[in-house]
Amino acid sequence: HLGQPQPPSHVKKKDYRFGRMLGSGTFGEVYECVRKSDKTSVAIKVIRKALLNGDHTLVEKEMDVMRDLHHPNIVEYLDYFESRERYYLVFSLATGGELFERITQRGRFSEQDAVREIRTVFQAVEYLHEHNVVHRDLKPENLLYRDNSAESPLVIADFGIAKTVTDESDVLTTVCGSYGYVAPEIMRRHGYGKPVDIWSLGVITFTLLCGYSPYYYCETPQHMLLAMERHEVVFEKRYWWGVSEGAKEFIRALLHPDPAKRPTAAEALRMPWLRGTTALDNDLL
Ligand code: ADP
Ligand code: MG
Repeated sequence: HLGQPQPPSHVKKKDYRFGRMLGSGTFGEVYECVRKSDKTSVAIKVIRKALLNGDHTLVEKEMDVMRDLHHPNIVEYLDYFESRERYYLVFSLATGGELFERITQRGRFSEQDAVREIRTVFQAVEYLHEHNVVHRDLKPENLLYRDNSAESPLVIADFGIAKTVTDESDVLTTVCGSYGYVAPEIMRRHGYGKPVDIWSLGVITFTLLCGYSPYYYCETPQHMLLAMERHEVVFEKRYWWGVSEGAKEFIRALLHPDPAKRPTAAEALRMPWLRGTTALDNDLL
C-alpha cells in the first residue's frame, strides 16, 4: 500500500533491468523490463508524480482494484515501488502489441476472427463484473495481445480509472473514459454502472468489423450524443454488405441507449453471434 513502509525504492528498482518502451499514457510510460532474480519479463508502468496534480489516490486505486483480479485475460498486477518522483507499477507482460495496431494493420477483421477476440474480452469482462469492477475505459488501445503469435489471446490492461461498485444500486457519476467509446449515460452525467463497459464493447465490435468507428460522421459531441440516444447505428452498405445480420443485431443490442436494456456480459456470451454459430467466414471481403 502507498504510505506504508516500503523497502527503499532504489533497492527494488535495481531488481529490474529496464528495456524498450512499450507504450505511453496519461501519466508516464510503460517499459518492458526483466526481473533479474528469475529473468522473468514484466511490464512496468512509470507514473510521474508531478503529473498527478496532487491526486495520488489514482495510483492507489489502480492497485487496489487490480490486486484481487486473477484471470487469464486480464493483465496481472505483480508489484509496486516508488521513488521521490515516480511510482512504478509492475504487471505481467503482454508482448503482442495493442488490438488498436492490429486493426490499423488489417483494416478490419473477419467475423470469425472478431468473434474470437470479442468473446475473449467478454469472458474477462464477465469476470470483472462478477467482482463488481467496472473498467470504464475499454478501447482497442487498452486491449493487448499476450504474445506475437496469430493465436495469441487478448488481455485487458489499464485499470487506471476502473472502479469497484459495492452493489447493484451503486451509481457512478464521474465523467470519464475515452471520446467515441463512452456510453451516452456518462456523457449525460446520469448515474451509470457496469453497462458502460458493454457499450464500449459495442463500439469496439463495430470498429473491428468495418475498420471505422460508429459515430465518425458526428461533427460534435452533442451530435454524437443525439445519434447514440436515437439508437442510430448505421451499417453503410458498401462496408457492411458481407456481414451477417447476427453481427449487426449483436452490435445494436450492445449500443442500446438504455443501459438496462443492454445485455449483461453473461447474456452477451449466450447470444448466437458471440457463440460463433452464425458468424460468417468472410475473410476475403
Ligand atoms: P494509460 O492509463 O496512461 O493509458 P496504460 O496502462 O493503458 O496507461 O498503458 C499505456 C500503454 O502501455 C498501453 O496502451 C500499452 O500499449 C502499454 N502497456 C500497458 N500495460 C502493458 C503490459 N502489461 N504489457 C505490455 N504493454 C503494456
Ligand atoms: Mg490506456
